[in-house]
Amino acid sequence: MRAPLLTIETADDLPAKADVVIIGAGIVGTCAAYYLAKRGVKVVLAEKGRPGAEQSSRNWGWCRQQNRDERELPMATRSLALWDELAAEIGPGLGFRRSGLLYLSNNEAEIEGWARWRDFARTQNVITHMLTAEEAAERGRATGKSWKGGVFSPTDGIADPASAVPLIAKAAETHGGRVLQNCAVRGLELSGGRVSGVVTERGTIRTKTAVMAGGAWASSFCRQLGIRFPQASVRASILAVSEAAGIPDALHTARVSLTARKGGHTLAISGRARVDPTAQMLRFGTTFVPMFLKRHKSLAIGGLEGLRSGHEGLSRWRLDRETPMERMRILDPAPDPSQIRDTLARARELIPALNQSEVTAAWAGYIDSTPDGVPAIGETQIPGFVLAAGFSGHGFGIGPGAGDMIADIVMGREPALDAKPYHPSRFSESSWGKVADF
Ligand SMILES: Cc1cc2nc3c(=O)[nH]c(=O)nc-3n(C[C@H](O)[C@H](O)[C@H](O)COP(=O)(O)OP(=O)(O)OC[C@H]3O[C@@H](n4cnc5c(N)ncnc54)[C@H](O)[C@@H]3O)c2cc1C
Repeated sequence: MRAPLLTIETADDLPAKADVVIIGAGIVGTCAAYYLAKRGVKVVLAEKGRPGAEQSSRNWGWCRQQNRDERELPMATRSLALWDELAAEIGPGLGFRRSGLLYLSNNEAEIEGWARWRDFARTQNVITHMLTAEEAAERGRATGKSWKGGVFSPTDGIADPASAVPLIAKAAETHGGRVLQNCAVRGLELSGGRVSGVVTERGTIRTKTAVMAGGAWASSFCRQLGIRFPQASVRASILAVSEAAGIPDALHTARVSLTARKGGHTLAISGRARVDPTAQMLRFGTTFVPMFLKRHKSLAIGGLEGLRSGHEGLSRWRLDRETPMERMRILDPAPDPSQIRDTLARARELIPALNQSEVTAAWAGYIDSTPDGVPAIGETQIPGFVLAAGFSGHGFGIGPGAGDMIADIVMGREPALDAKPYHPSRFSESSWGKVADF
């Protein structure tokens, strides 16, 4: 069963022109459209399926600074402030609250790692509290277990993945933006080497600026334009259960993590995923070796899902024919049954009250990643074509900060944060620096 997702109504007619066309209505593209519309830019947000239907509705909903890589922490902090503003404008339907995130552990090396991160976070004015064994037991009393320690990040929070993107898309419309659903973008028209139009399955929109925010589809789209964007995705599985009382809103342990979601909780094992081989994965395989080595304990080989889905094919497509994006309106891979069983058993072992909860849904999502685990945001070698993808499992929380940055880049303004660490040109260099922690 697919992850729950709010349905919205939008108009079908294709605008003849726009200042900016955003390709893909996940959290990143939708936030970019929202901030552009709010600044008076004529923006069209084109989505091949439904807004939020891929990664952005399938995630845990964590909006987290805790344990973030130093390159991403500024965007995480800014995003939380922007989530506050979005919640004030859009209302409680967004599900955003600064619930704090709770981490519990019996592993001293893990606790020491959290303490080191706390020391670094202080230099960035981010507050996080290390917990003694007593404090961990108190905050984690739903587990009824003793813990060696933990960490609590009080300013972090969660939002509702089932409603966030559709509601932000509607807010973009109220500011004058246009949202198109079931409208795949097949490619770009170039004049004199720069963007002059965006070709959709319904016709062409004249524009000088296009933003590719297509999540797991970004690399195959870029390839059509001769742009090399190393990207790989893994299939993560997750389940939802009905509500049990007294469980923290957001709890992480090495064995299982829990998050409150409307009417219940989502359960998942952090980092655990299947690698479904694809043609694109073979192409970029060596590029991802450091990433896969770092995460090898959590990853297992998957099946043919990836080949069937078509998001990581190497084919060239024509702009006047159906493309892989129209054949796969919503990337909806099957959840891994063994991972679902294991997750449920671990969660019930951690929190006995969950033995009374029923499973209400289970789903999977392809998490798209760059080789260094940091997103790619910036103008490509094609003037007017901006890439914003590869959010590497963190994009839901940092979607608002990314959208705000994209809006500034597109408008030729200085972004509020330094955009250099995100620029995709780093992937043409021989060394990409350290792989981000997850
Ligand atoms: C199980 C799971 C748990 C996660 N947990 C968290 C978490 O707790 N916190 C967090 O911050 N992140 C989390 N993530 C990661 C997060 O969900 C993603 O990083 C984020 O949603 C990516 O957003 P996006 O907008 O880049 O991509 P997506 O949400 O994948 O959106 C891309 C959209 O583009 C559309 N599209 C693609 N190509 C085209 C085209 N040519 N024309 C038109 N439309 C197109 C697609 O249909 C899709 O809707 C998790 C992910 C998963 C799967």
